[in-house]
Amino acid sequence: MKSGWVAVLGGVLVMVVVGALLMVGQRVEEVRVVVTEEKVLEPGVWVFPKEQVRFDARFPRARLTECEALGDGKFGLVVRPENLPVNNSPWFAFQVSCEVERKVVVRLRVQGGNLRYRPKVSVDGVTWVTLTEEAYQQDEAREECVLKLEVGPRALWVAAQELVSTQEMLDWAGALERLPFVQGTTFGRSVGGQRLCRLDVGDVTAERAVVIIGRQHPPETTGSLALMRFVEEIAGDSDLARSFRGQFHCVVVPLLNPDGVDAGNWRHNLGRVDLNRDWKDFAQPETRAVRDQIVALGKAKKLRLMLDFHSTFKDVFYTQSDEAVSSPAGFTRLWLEALETRLPMYEAKREASPVPTPTTSTYWGHHTFGIPAITYEIGDNTDRALLKTVAATAAQEMMRLMLEMKDAP
Ligand SMILES: [Zn+2]
Repeated sequence: MKSGWVAVLGGVLVMVVVGALLMVGQRVEEVRVVVTEEKVLEPGVWVFPKEQVRFDARFPRARLTECEALGDGKFGLVVRPENLPVNNSPWFAFQVSCEVERKVVVRLRVQGGNLRYRPKVSVDGVTWVTLTEEAYQQDEAREECVLKLEVGPRALWVAAQELVSTQEMLDWAGALERLPFVQGTTFGRSVGGQRLCRLDVGDVTAERAVVIIGRQHPPETTGSLALMRFVEEIAGDSDLARSFRGQFHCVVVPLLNPDGVDAGNWRHNLGRVDLNRDWKDFAQPETRAVRDQIVALGKAKKLRLMLDFHSTFKDVFYTQSDEAVSSPAGFTRLWLEALETRLPMYEAKREASPVPTPTTSTYWGHHTFGIPAITYEIGDNTDRALLKTVAATAAQEMMRLMLEMKDAP
């Protein structure tokens, strides 16, 4: 009993002392103790033990800058670009999982831009589904969106677009290299030391050449999807493709910015530069290397066409105007007309800027070689099956016209 009284008295004493200290504390300054349950295991992983939820951004293409628990299964995520200023293409990609099946609400904020991409989810990183109206809302200013996700032990991938990573593109190139008339080479290194890969399709001794490049801009998945289908058609088994390959040497650089793609950049390479604004200064190793390849090709043979694949808000071809001198003369107009004739439901929109940006690949290609040099843009939301049909048909009509116009001035 005695010891009990001592314990009670002791407890009261402790309470009084703590209370006095708190009162003193409140008078002097507000004391706040923040207890966080967030546990960061290593950069790119956020684990919330109480919620049993984990966010992971440690894979190629991932981008997630900050992550916090807001309570009740809600989480606040922030995505920032690689550096500023930057094009308004906020890329994001992360995985989320939970030890038990549950609903998770993600409040995703982009800093440095406005939301451009409607999030897609995937359980295997291969097949992607766009979030439905019920599962996705964004605010008027397009700076913040809310995602309602069903998560479980198996990681759910969430990304701005299908990933189409550097490895995926290299695998695709590797598969094409197995064809007897395709050669793959490394022609340079990126800032981060990754190999820049080139495919030579068709007769490498042919007098005439066509150049195809792509993925200068990391988020531009639809551009890569179209480029791959376009090149597959040139490497295909049709009489037209065989005939084209017998008379044309086609040089393909499918991925000019492997570092930016893997880093989940919004726009730039690891040198913090927009590669498609570097075709005047050539300050980056990627643009210098590809320029040297094309210049050498242009000295050895007659360049006839340059295509650069990108993505934007709509399908559009950025071309020179019909008045601009280029050889073969009239190719661009005839090509796009032929594409529309073949695909009556498809409008081949063309924008021929009277004041083109003088730092882009196609401006350089046209001005250096006097050839049609066209930026082939695919909409972010263009139906994936349609973009492949258009790409295949555009490749067929390009080959047909190139053969028809091969001696044209
Ligand atoms: Zn682009």
